[in-house]
Amino acid sequence: MAAQADLVVRNAVIADGTGGPLRYGDVAVSDGVIVSAGEEAVTAGPETTVLDAHGELVCAPGFIDVHTHDDAAVVRHPGLEFKVAQGCTSLVIGNCGFSAFPATGEDDIESIAGSDWSDLDAYRREVTASGFAANVMALIGHNTIRIATIGRDLDRAATADELAVMRGHVRRAMEQGACGLSTGLIYTPGKWTSTEEIIELARAAAEGGGVYATHMRNEGERLLEAVDEALAIGRESGCPVHISHHKAAGQENWGKVADSLAVVDRANAAGSTGAAGPGGTPGPGREGGPGREGGPAVTLDFYPYTASSGPMFEYTSPETITPDWAEHNQFATCPPFPQYQGRRVAEVAAAEGLSLSELVRRVFATAEGQQTISIGFGMSEDDLATNVRHPLMMIGSDGIPELDGLPHPRLFGTFPRIYAEYVRRRGLLTMAEAVRRMTGLPADRFGLAGRGRLEPGAAGDLVVFDPTVISDVATYEDPKREPVGISWVVINGQLTYDHGRHTSARSGQVLSFARPA
Ligand SMILES: [Zn+2]
Repeated sequence: MAAQADLVVRNAVIADGTGGPLRYGDVAVSDGVIVSAGEEAVTAGPETTVLDAHGELVCAPGFIDVHTHDDAAVVRHPGLEFKVAQGCTSLVIGNCGFSAFPATGEDDIESIAGSDWSDLDAYRREVTASGFAANVMALIGHNTIRIATIGRDLDRAATADELAVMRGHVRRAMEQGACGLSTGLIYTPGKWTSTEEIIELARAAAEGGGVYATHMRNEGERLLEAVDEALAIGRESGCPVHISHHKAAGQENWGKVADSLAVVDRANAAGSTGAAGPGGTPGPGREGGPGREGGPAVTLDFYPYTASSGPMFEYTSPETITPDWAEHNQFATCPPFPQYQGRRVAEVAAAEGLSLSELVRRVFATAEGQQTISIGFGMSEDDLATNVRHPLMMIGSDGIPELDGLPHPRLFGTFPRIYAEYVRRRGLLTMAEAVRRMTGLPADRFGLAGRGRLEPGAAGDLVVFDPTVISDVATYEDPKREPVGISWVVINGQLTYDHGRHTSARSGQVLSFARPA
């Protein structure tokens, strides 16, 4: 019997994060740690917070968002409301090659100008002192270390000395608890980087047991070549590969995600990226899931929307903009012209009486304008369904925490949308399997030791939700709306969200990577 539990979820439908069968019981937390998860009935004391699930609500480990850009959001928005309201209790930061450290002196979504984030320890020190709501696990970003070492605007190979400096950044990050290296190979300066340079740096991540997480060089016409490059980097460096926001953009490329997943399956069957462990693609619901014995060579994540989003400056220019691009893209956040937000680029140009080139030139005329975020409609629903069925597919919101404009609804809706769309409406995932993809599977891959499963001794990260109600309500027109159907979110034992109300709990931690046992 758990003596004097601080918090008890009573009469819950327990989804424990392994993908195993649902069961009924109580979940108890003491001193921030789960002390009982359905094994025994728990007696509450007078000081115990009791949350009654009435035999109807699901209690799961807190969800892990494996693809975020929340590095600076822990300071700008320390309540992390847009993630906590989805049931997320841990966030992997530093994605797409951009991380908060080492500080580059720039001010953007992953960093804050003037911050002293020289390395992960400095970042941890500063953000821990100010306090934030959810846990974070850091990747170190290749673009960031290249900007810090070589500069943003130099289209050339790194010298041997520069490579040594960059390798030092990766090594130090791994020693300080990072979970691996990320790249963003469509962005500046990642797009100028050779495969060999990345292999060298991924080797330093591999030495620390970390993962290589990549926004690949191409997600459209040359998707399969990009997957081949990612697998080669894994094979040569010995680093397990994680493919970020797996997609095929552009109508002529729809369907390619199935080909790409077939390549991933072959690599896993062969164990051919050289990752530790047996590889192989386990079926859904296998006890323990993949990862506990070293993990598969290749894993992935996706977000359940047919539109993508990112910095517009990286996608188009006055010289290259086409009518097709302008038809399929809209302004999300446009600091100098907020009146453009939520409207397609083509529509704005027509309304302003400007050519597309003139409009883009006007928007990018200032440094502020170059921070514009756009949303591009280019994926197929069928590809989303193909993605969600894959047993090694995790969920990553890729939300951009820029709250001034009209952000992509994935920032507020990703995790509930998986349940509404793929568990309830289309029946492509079981409840237990959906929970595993958001908890046990990512915890193993990204080294969140003692999280991602409901078991005694695990951290007290919980989400309690109504499986018949949980839904996203954020839309492209009205994106900053918190989901429905989430009752409570508990982070490191602290009640952080209660039926639409955010408490002032700031119990998030900067986690340290632990290699799966
Ligand atoms: Zn990306």
